[in-house]
Amino acid sequence: MITIHDKTFSPFISRDDIENRIAELAAQINSDYEGRSPLFIVVLNGAFLFASELVKNIPLSCEITFVRLSSYTATESTGKVRQIIGLEEKLTNRDVIIIEDIVDTGLTMHQLLLQIHALKPLSVEIATLLHKPEAIKKPVDLRYVGFEIPNRFVVGYGLDYDGVGRNLNALYVLPE
Ligand code: 5GP
Repeated sequence: MITIHDKTFSPFISRDDIENRIAELAAQINSDYEGRSPLFIVVLNGAFLFASELVKNIPLSCEITFVRLSSYTATESTGKVRQIIGLEEKLTNRDVIIIEDIVDTGLTMHQLLLQIHALKPLSVEIATLLHKPEAIKKPVDLRYVGFEIPNRFVVGYGLDYDGVGRNLNALYVLPE
């Protein structure tokens, strides 16, 4: 058990299980991208540990860049939108792999994909450590998924609860 702020979390997925699964994802990527030089776009903050473990297992010639998403900004025409901040690379003719921590409703990833596609990359795939299929509202095509998990709140391995818990080397879950 681990307590963060007012909540107590139970052990969920161990460090060994996470790292073994990430090595499997890396092997898939190595095989799929053989002879190509992908550009990894890491979505901060949550994906930092997943990305670091993943790319350590990828000997391909590749580039790695980091972006943030702005907080929701509302406009009359588009409703709630999160904009990419910090992307300096040109994406034309690049094979892009987005690295995310978790796809929950899919709304964030849906918006991110629209913005990435507008920059005319050759291809775009998504690698996410976690996916909550029960929570999905905007289906997105997820090529590399670490673990499909139930619709419960998790922390650790990059994911926080109110700013705390990102450094935990395993995943913890809020009991139902
Ligand atoms: P979506 O737009 O897919 O609903 O939400 C994605 C974002 O919600 C993630 O990048 C993450 O910041 C946050 N999120 C969703 N589920 C969880 C969770 O179980 N734990 C944590 N720490 N963040 C979550």
